[in-house]
Amino acid sequence: MRQSKLFTKTSKENPKDEQSKNAQLLERAGFIYKNSAGIYTILPLGWRVIQKIAAIIREEINAIGGQEMLMQAMVDKHYLKATGRWDIDIGFKIITAKNPEPSFVLGWTHEEVVTEIAARFINSYRDLPLAVYQIQTKFRNEARAKSGILRGREFLMKDLYSFHADERDLLEYYEKAKQAYFKIFERCGLRTYYTLAGGGDFTAGNTHEFQVLAPVGEDVTYYCEKCGYAENKEISKLKAGDKCPGCGGKIGEANSIEVGNIFPLGTKYSEALGLAYADEKGNRQPVVMGSYGIGLGRMMGAIVEIHNDDKGIIWPEAVAPFKVHLIALEGAESEADKFYDKLIKAGIDVFYDDRAYATAGEKFNDADLIGIPCRLVISKKTLENDGVEIKKRFDKIGEIAKMDATIDILSK
Ligand code: ATP
Ligand code: MG
Repeated sequence: MRQSKLFTKTSKENPKDEQSKNAQLLERAGFIYKNSAGIYTILPLGWRVIQKIAAIIREEINAIGGQEMLMQAMVDKHYLKATGRWDIDIGFKIITAKNPEPSFVLGWTHEEVVTEIAARFINSYRDLPLAVYQIQTKFRNEARAKSGILRGREFLMKDLYSFHADERDLLEYYEKAKQAYFKIFERCGLRTYYTLAGGGDFTAGNTHEFQVLAPVGEDVTYYCEKCGYAENKEISKLKAGDKCPGCGGKIGEANSIEVGNIFPLGTKYSEALGLAYADEKGNRQPVVMGSYGIGLGRMMGAIVEIHNDDKGIIWPEAVAPFKVHLIALEGAESEADKFYDKLIKAGIDVFYDDRAYATAGEKFNDADLIGIPCRLVISKKTLENDGVEIKKRFDKIGEIAKMDATIDILSK
């Protein structure tokens, strides 16, 4: 893609109304656009990142048997009335110009909807277990929408729901989901702590959150450096300096970002919405359920919080908007054009700064801000050696390599 044709431009100034690093960098670099507090448009560069995150999530969730589907944002009143969640203040209820009595809420989670759908298709123990998921927009009336894209009032969530004959089968699947979550976050460059937490508006029991330690995070996690055991302050009796109940290691305390949450739901939703199956003896039993959430925008924000320096973002390769950023300097434009075509032919995901009006300094600053992991520069000087300067985003200086060899290295 040619940078001269990109829909967005970078800006030098930090947005005035954003305190968090993720929002400042993502807005300045042109990944997101703030429409209102907690409401962000995801721009072309940002959408590339979100698509990469989504692809990783799909791979790992498909691998544990999740079947992707799509439920709608408009959720009928009868669903949430069935579980007493219709009047929770988190929901944006929908009224029309003429009818002030709401009969829908914009979905802030989909346990009730998926449970009722499942009741149509699950009848016997032979139908179990099953798992379905979606990547879909959720709406929540967040009181504190101030952490940039970490807390939206409208945001993309992957929500997975699993259905089981008994608690034992649920717990087996819960363990698989836990491992899939670790892989997803690790592949996206996030070290997470598997953290014991409360059930919020979802379940009376405990749940598990995936927390990324970061000063901007709104949660507080007590964690063991040695074995990784962790508890959310909301439910924890631990203090900083305590001994880890598991391994005896030292407990630390840190702010953290909840990027994922998994919930053993038991039979709360199946009982409320009539989801039951006939067991081997023909007796009706309620289906045992789990649900599993990940915020995609929050993940993008968390990645930026962790991977940045004073010049901009440093994307981990797996989620970078492009693999390489090619920069043409004055006097080397036509050679750079030819090299760009070769990279495209070799199937390399390349962003090409071909802007005639930008100075070398502006091009370098933009490349650092946007944060593509590998930068290639073609200038009169590099061409003297039939070469291109290659530099990793996190390195200070680059080196000159031959053009053809560079293509070979990049296509591996
Ligand atoms: P929080 O405690 O931060 O408000 P939550 O516990 O209410 O979040 P869940 O219902 O567990 O959120 O949602 C599942 C996942 O969706 C979260 O782990 C997070 O990654 C994401 N998420 C939740 N709320 C938001 C939000 N307002 N903006 C962006 N992502 C969110
Ligand atoms: Mg949660």
